[in-house]
Amino acid sequence: MMIQPKTRGFICTTAHPEGCAKQVQRQVDYVKSQPAIEGPRNVLVIGASTGYGLASRIVASFAAGANTIGVYFDKAAEGARTASAGWYNSAAFEEAAKEAGRQSFSIVGDAFSDEIKAKTIDLIRTELGKIDLVIYSVASPRRTHPKTGETFSSVIKPIGENFTNKTVNFHSGEVTEVTIEPANEDEIRQTIAVMGGEDWQMWMDELEQAGVLAEGATTVAYSYIGPEITHAVYREGTIGYAKNDLEVTAKRLNKQLGTHGGRAFVSVNKALVTQSSSAIPVVPLYISALYKVMKEHGTHEGCIEQMYRLFSDRLYNGSGDTQVDDRGLIRVDDWEMKPEIQAEVAKLWSELTTDNVYDLSDLKGYRKEFFQLFGFETDGVDYEVDTNPEVLIPNLKS
Ligand code: NAD
Repeated sequence: MMIQPKTRGFICTTAHPEGCAKQVQRQVDYVKSQPAIEGPRNVLVIGASTGYGLASRIVASFAAGANTIGVYFDKAAEGARTASAGWYNSAAFEEAAKEAGRQSFSIVGDAFSDEIKAKTIDLIRTELGKIDLVIYSVASPRRTHPKTGETFSSVIKPIGENFTNKTVNFHSGEVTEVTIEPANEDEIRQTIAVMGGEDWQMWMDELEQAGVLAEGATTVAYSYIGPEITHAVYREGTIGYAKNDLEVTAKRLNKQLGTHGGRAFVSVNKALVTQSSSAIPVVPLYISALYKVMKEHGTHEGCIEQMYRLFSDRLYNGSGDTQVDDRGLIRVDDWEMKPEIQAEVAKLWSELTTDNVYDLSDLKGYRKEFFQLFGFETDGVDYEVDTNPEVLIPNLKS
C-alpha cells in the first residue's frame, strides 16, 4: 500500500517503514562518526523505540559496542494499519546491530507490568548474564499498577491557578492563547503514579533481587526543567511534580546501588521534538523558537547528539566522575539553558504571532522533524510507491 501521513492533532496514526529505517540509520551514522566510548557492555533500555530511549540504545550499541535489550510498547502492522514508528525504528535498529555484530533483543509489551519485568529478567539471564547500565526512558499517558490493578492517567496541567500563554497549531501555524485549568489533587497523584519514579524503582528492585545487575551497575532516567515560559505547565505543573518524584527516586537508588559500587542519576535533557513533547501545549512553540536561536548559534542538538554527549562527556568520560549540578542532576540541557540563548528566546517569544511565526521561529523545522518521527519527509524515500507495512523485528522475544 501507499503510506502517507494521517494526523489527528499532535498524533500521526501512520508510519513509514523505510523512512523510519533511514532516520535510524542517520543516527547510527552520526554515532559512528564520533570517537568510540569506553562504556557499558550490556545495556537495558526501557522505553527504547523512539526519542531519547532509542538514541540511548543507538549510542550504547554503536559508540560503546554494547549488547542491548530494548523494552517498548509498539504495535505491528495489521490489515490496513501500519505498524507504529517505534516498531519500524526497532526493526531497523536490530538489523543494524546484527550487521555490526552486536547482540540485541527486543521485548514488546507493557513495561509497567510484572510479566514484562519477569520476561526481561529471564532474557538477561539466558542471553547476557548481567546488565551494567539501565536506561529508563518511558513516556506514557497511562499506567496500570501491577499490584493494585488501578489504572492511572497523567495530565499536563498547572497547579494552583489557571495558566495562560501562547501556543501554536504546528500544522497551520496559527498562534493562539491557551488557558489551562489547574489540576486537582487526584490528577496530581495519578500523574506522579504514571511519570514519577515508582516503576523505575520497581524495575531496579526486581533486577537487583534477581541478581542480574553487574557490580557497579549504573541507572539513568530522564527529566526536563526548561525556562520560565513553560514552568507553570511543565516544571511547576503536574508533570514537574512527577519529575520531582523521579529525582527523589534517583537519590534513593543511588544509595541502594551504591552498596555494590553502582550509581543512579537523573539526566536533564534538552527540549526536543518527540511524540511525547508534541502533546504538551506551549512547548512546541517554545521548541520552535529555541531551535531557531540554537541553530543560529551553532549549538543545536537532536536526541542522538544529546545522548552521545551524555554518554561520552558525563557517564563514561574516562575520569570516573560524572559532572552534576548542586541538586545532583546531570545537565545536558546546559546549552539550551545558557542565559544568552534564553534571553534571545524570551525576546522572540514576546513578539511571536501567527503573522511572523515562520520568521521568528523554526516552526518549519519543528513540523518537518515531527513528520520525520513517523518516517515521513525523509530524503531518499519515494512516498508514491507501494510499500509493505509488515516488517519483522529480528530478535523479538515476546
Ligand atoms: P517518546 O514518546 O519518544 O518515547 C517514549 C518511549 O516509551 C517509547 O519507546 C515507547 O514505546 C515507550 N513506552 C511508552 N509506554 C510504555 C509502556 N507502557 N511500556 C513500555 N514502553 C513504553 O518520549 P521521549 O520524549 O523520548 O521521552 C523519554 C523521556 O525523556 C521522558 O522521561 C521524558 O520526560 C524525557 N525528556 C523528554 C524531553 C523532550 O523534549 N522530548 C526533554 C527532556 C526529557
